[in-house]
This record gives sequence, C-alpha cells and structure tokens, in this order.
Amino acid sequence: MKHTKVRDLLNSTTTLQEVNAKGWVRTFRNNQFIALNDGSTINNIQCVVDFENTPEETLKRITTGASVSVIGTLVESKGAGQKYEIQVNKLEILGDSDAEKFPMQPKKHSLEFLRENAHLRVRTNAFGAIMRVRSVLSYAVHKYFQDKGFVYVNTPIITGADAEGAGEMFQVTSLPLDNLPKNEEGNIDFKQDFFGKHTNLTVSGQLEGETFAMALGQIYTFGPTFRAENSNTSRHLAEFWMIEPEVAFNDLDDNMDLAEDFIQYVIKYALDNCKDDLAFLEGRLLEEEKSKPQADRSEMSLLEKLNFVLENNFKRVSYTEAIDILRDSTPNKKKKFSYLINEWGADLQSEHERYLVEKHFKCPVILYDYPANIKAFYMRLNDNTEPGRETVRAMDILFPGIGEIVGGSEREERYDVLVQKMEALGIDKEELYWYLDTRRFGSATHAGFGLGFERLVLFVTGMTNIRDVIPFPRTPGSAEF
Ligand code: ATP
Ligand code: MN
Repeated sequence: MKHTKVRDLLNSTTTLQEVNAKGWVRTFRNNQFIALNDGSTINNIQCVVDFENTPEETLKRITTGASVSVIGTLVESKGAGQKYEIQVNKLEILGDSDAEKFPMQPKKHSLEFLRENAHLRVRTNAFGAIMRVRSVLSYAVHKYFQDKGFVYVNTPIITGADAEGAGEMFQVTSLPLDNLPKNEEGNIDFKQDFFGKHTNLTVSGQLEGETFAMALGQIYTFGPTFRAENSNTSRHLAEFWMIEPEVAFNDLDDNMDLAEDFIQYVIKYALDNCKDDLAFLEGRLLEEEKSKPQADRSEMSLLEKLNFVLENNFKRVSYTEAIDILRDSTPNKKKKFSYLINEWGADLQSEHERYLVEKHFKCPVILYDYPANIKAFYMRLNDNTEPGRETVRAMDILFPGIGEIVGGSEREERYDVLVQKMEALGIDKEELYWYLDTRRFGSATHAGFGLGFERLVLFVTGMTNIRDVIPFPRTPGSAEF
C-alpha cells in the first residue's frame, strides 16, 4: 500500500476507508494521540491509537522523533483544531528514537541551541516552515525570470579572476599546504597548481553574467557565492546564495523597475503559496516580540509587513538627498550615530541605512547615484557630475529590519572610461581581457543587480538572524556539518 502525504490527507474532501501515513512523531499524549508530521505541511495529523489492543511494548516505542507508519481510517475529528484524524488499525515503528536522548524535545528551544543542532532543527515547526518558504521562494525566483524569457546562466564557482571587486575571497588550491612549491622569486608557484594559476571561490557571478547578457539579452544567475569577510553579523554568511539578473539595453531606471517588480512578485508568490507556514511564523514573531520592550516591538505583524511592501512603491532617493537627510537628522545632531555624517562622500553604514528606512521613510528605499570612489569599478560614471563630486549609476535597495537587500548598477559600457577607471584602481587589464571584450565588441548600455537570497528569506519569514534561514550556515569559526 502506498502512503499518502499528511498534507493531502488533511486537504481531503471526504472521509476515507483505508489510508497509510508515514512520518515522525511530534508528541504522543494519553497513550492514545500521536501528532504525526511528515514535512509536507506544518500541520500534524492526529492518529488515534487503539491502546487497549496495542501491545504495551509498542506503545512505549511511540516517542518524540520516532518514525512510524500507520494504517487506518480517515474520519472526521471530534477534537478541536483539525477536520480529520486517523483511527489507527495498524501501527508499525519504523525507526526508534530514544526519548531521553533526542535533542528536539517537545518544548521551546533557543535559536542558539537549534543552530548547534542544524541537522535536527528542521524537525521543528519553525525550521520546517522556514525551509519550505525558502524552497517556494527559490521556485518563485526561477518562475519570475523564466516567465519573462530570461536565460538562467550557471556562472563558475571556481574563478580565475582575482578582482571581482565584491569582497574578500577564499582561495582554491590542490597544492600541498605543508610543502608549497616556490618559483625563482621565492613566491608560491601557482603554475604548479591544479589550474596552473591562482584561483578563488566566486564572490559574484556578475562579470561572467555580463558576457552572457551581451549575447542572450536577459539573463539571471542563482547560485552559491562565497565571501571570506570576517563580518560576524546577523546579516552576513561566508557562503550565501545570490540572484543576479543582467539585462542588455537596460539603464538604471529600468534596473530599479525590474528589482522592485521582482521583489514584489516573489513576496506575493510566498503569500499566496505558503499561507500555513507564514501564519505560523507570524505567530512565532508575535510571541518573540512580547519579550521585547514596547519601544522595540514592530508596529506591524509579519503579514502586514509583507503586504505593505506589495502595496507601496519603493521610495527612490539619491545619495545626495540621503546625505542631507542624515546630516540634519536627530541622531546625527545628538551624536548618536557611531559614524557621524558631516560631508558628502561619506560611506553609509548600516546605522544610517536603517535610520533612512525605519525612521525617516518607513518603507523600502532605493538609494542611487553614489559617489564614484565608494563603489565598484564597473559602475557607469554619471554624465554631468561636478569634478570632485563624481557619481556612478549605482543603486542599493534597503529594507526595514534587513538593511541592504540588493546592490546593483548600470554598467560602464564605454571602453575608454572603463579602462581609465581600472588603471586608476590598479585592476589588472590583462587578467580581465575577456570582460573588456564585451566593451570592445558590440558594447551597449546594460544593467543588473545582486540580491542576497538569504536576506530575502529573512524578510519573508520574519527571522532576525541569517544563520536561521539557510540549512547549514557557514560563518567565521563555524563550518559544522
Ligand atoms: P553588505 O554591505 O551588506 O556587506 P555588499 O555591499 O557587500 O553588502 P554586494 O556585494 O552588493 O553586497 O552583494 C549583493 C547582495 O548580496 C547584497 O545586497 C546582499 O543582499 C547580499 N550579500 C552580500 N554579502 C553577503 C553576505 N556576506 N551574506 C549574505 N548576503 C550577502
Ligand atoms: Mn559586504
């Protein structure tokens, strides 16, 4: 007999004579009621065991965490909270779970404890919900771009470029670390390395993505990205997933339109397709907020926050306007910021971004036209900027509670301007000859952005630490599992 998923049983339109369900025991009450979960939904199905006719030995083995198979009748439930339950005729223990030793006890665990048990935390309601939402969101990402005719590109994970310009890199080598070959100058001889050169894990697929956009028109990447930055924050991972669309003939305004439409689409998709999980996560957040002082609590519930983003346009603000707002802000005047904003040209810290989004505008913000010298080399220099106040066609999207969720730009399509910029910054033109070729042969205006997938999952699930929205987080000092 084939087993049926709990989700389908709970969504059944009729009672059924004989059904088989398989899953893991969440709780076993009164020697009679099993709450069975199989991961297909946050909801458990109640299985009512005929304890009088079940051997004591078997009853003892129905413990939290054990896997079981039940065969029985799907009947209308007399208990509150569920439409159907299974009246069990036959019960088989598939895998025992020692109740004393199973770490996921049916009680509230701290997120820190759960992180240390990342291989088991997915058996909890919260992590089951988060991981299902994550899965649905990643489907929505592909659906959005595929429906619009974008081509999905798998850019390399091992890169030969040393200067992708997005962050510190992890090196990849097969050389023996305890006996590195040296060249005549006494430096490590990477000619003897696996690829015959120095290689790294990618920090971004953008540069390769651009070459594809200049042939296929509209492309996107969605893959793992690695940054060896030692930022031990609740927003940074050493291994994260990034979505990077790149579109030929798009300028910065088109780029902002695309990013806004895309983010709204995937959030809407999750709202429509993850109702039970989001309802649970909304309740979880509400509970968590209760332990905070009133002033720190969010004014909106999770679903209100998500709907707010769908119903309101993102506020588009130039860097220069943002600096004026920040300079005149109360925390700046009262010296509450760790980095005070005095002059145009200052790099914005997350405290400033959060002030703009959470206190000043109270909605998602797109900041654009940043000073050229705080942004990457490939961003397009604005025409008509004052000398000494050069700006580039960059954009960052800032979200409440998250900070930067998207970083993007219109790219510098002019060969001479790009080369000049690379020379000024000491970026090796020979190494990036292939990137420069896009500007040498049939160059065109184009633009794109990178969205950190985990930051999106953070926002949609209402979680606050990025380590809780990726299955097995990699952070400084931690690569367990
Ligand atoms: P931040 O200032 O937050 O470190 P960044 O400016 O380094 O971000 P980009 O290089 O523009 O970010 O990368 C594009 C997007 O990738 C960011 O907007 C963010 O959503 C995400 N991102 C960047 N670094 C990380 C990281 N270490 N962990 C998770 N997501 C990240
Ligand atoms: Mn960074």
